[in-house]
Amino acid sequence: MRKIRAHHLLCMQGFQGYGYSPDFVERMKHIIEVMYSDSSDDVEIVSCCDDICDCCPHNVENVCQKTGDNGKNIRETDALILRKLGFREGYCANFMDLIRYVNRQLDKDDVLEICGECAWKEKCLWYMKNVGLKY
Ligand code: SF4
Ligand code: SF4
Repeated sequence: MRKIRAHHLLCMQGFQGYGYSPDFVERMKHIIEVMYSDSSDDVEIVSCCDDICDCCPHNVENVCQKTGDNGKNIRETDALILRKLGFREGYCANFMDLIRYVNRQLDKDDVLEICGECAWKEKCLWYMKNVGLKY
């Protein structure tokens, strides 16, 4: 079963082809295509490096080093999302059901809180849509 970081459930919906490296972009595209084409797929929600992080240049020995804090900040973002969704880490569910649930549960204030520090906000369709901005 695929592992997906909690915040990647949001980023996957806003992805417009931008990313940290060509390999990362290809991996992101591939996983989005696979997950959206087979609606029967279950995923496990995690707050550690996942199948998308596998191809990211910031992934050093399976720890996100993007913010130089051994992944603490991004794990906290994942934990915040898990709390808002009412899930524990390791929760498994159908991918499309999760996407629908995420979009019902998170409101504009949640999105502003979760995505506040993200450098990709202005390139992210999901963020722009949820805060009422045009892409
Ligand atoms: S704004 Fe950033 S963290 Fe938020 S969904 Fe988009 S890419 Fe992910
Ligand atoms: S390693 Fe860090 S920056 Fe890279 S995709 Fe994973 S969470 Fe994002």
